[in-house]
Amino acid sequence: MPRYRRILLKLSGEALGEGGQGLSWERLSSLGGELAEARKRGTELALVVGGGNILRGASAKALDRVRADYMGMLATFINALALEEVLKQAGVPARVLSALSVEGVGEPFHRERALEYLARGEILILACGTGNPLFTTDTAAVLRALELRAEVLFKGTKVDGVYEEDPVKNPAARKYDYLSYEEVLEKGLGVMDLTAITLAREHHLPVLVFNMLKSGNIVRAVSGETVGTLIGG
Ligand code: UDP
Repeated sequence: MPRYRRILLKLSGEALGEGGQGLSWERLSSLGGELAEARKRGTELALVVGGGNILRGASAKALDRVRADYMGMLATFINALALEEVLKQAGVPARVLSALSVEGVGEPFHRERALEYLARGEILILACGTGNPLFTTDTAAVLRALELRAEVLFKGTKVDGVYEEDPVKNPAARKYDYLSYEEVLEKGLGVMDLTAITLAREHHLPVLVFNMLKSGNIVRAVSGETVGTLIGG
C-alpha cells in the first residue's frame, strides 16, 4: 500500500539536464521509469516542472524581467513535453496541462478536469507554473498541490534534504529530518522561495525535500520510507 494517495511532485529543471543544463534523454528516461513504478503502487501523481535547465527569469539580467519570466514559463513547457514523451514511452498515460495556452500541444489547466484525469490514473504534467510572471514553479507547486488536494508536496532536489549549512561547503553540516515552517523561515533556510513556503504554511501543506537524483528515491518516498527532510507543523 502506498503511504500517500495523491502527491504533487515538483521537479526542478536542473534534474532533467546533464550538469543542470539542457535535456538529458538518459536522465529523462530513468525518471520516466521511476515515475511509472511509483504510479504502479497506486499513488496519483501530478508533476510541476521547472525550467532552470533552460532559463530562469531572475538570472536573465539583460532582459526585461517580465519578458524573461514568460520565456522561463515557456522553458517549463519544453520540459513538460519531454517528460510526457518519456512517460508515454514507458507505457504510462500522461498529459500536459498548461497554465499558459499553447494551442495544439497542451491542454489548458482546468482544476475539475485535472481531478478527473488523476482519478483515471493519468500522470499530470503541469506546465508554465502559475501562468504569471514574478512567481516560481515552487510557488506553482504549492498552489497546484492545494488546488488538487494533494496530501503532500514532494520537492525533488540535488541534495539529500535540508541541512543546517550548505553540505558542499561544510561536509560536517547536519541534515534535518523534520522542520517546522517557522524554523525554515526563522533560520532563513533556502528550501523554497518565501511565497511558496508561506503559502504552504498557511494551508498546512507538508513538504518533503529529498534527493531525486538518487535512483529509487521517488519510489521510496512514495512508499513512505524516510528520505529527506519533512517540513510541516
Ligand atoms: N516562472 C514564472 N512564473 C511561474 C513559474 C515560473 O514567471 O509561475 C518563470 C520564472 O522566470 C522562473 C522560470 O519560469 O525562473 C523557471 O521556473 P523555476 O525557476 O521555478 O524553475 P526551476 O528552478 O525549478 O527549474
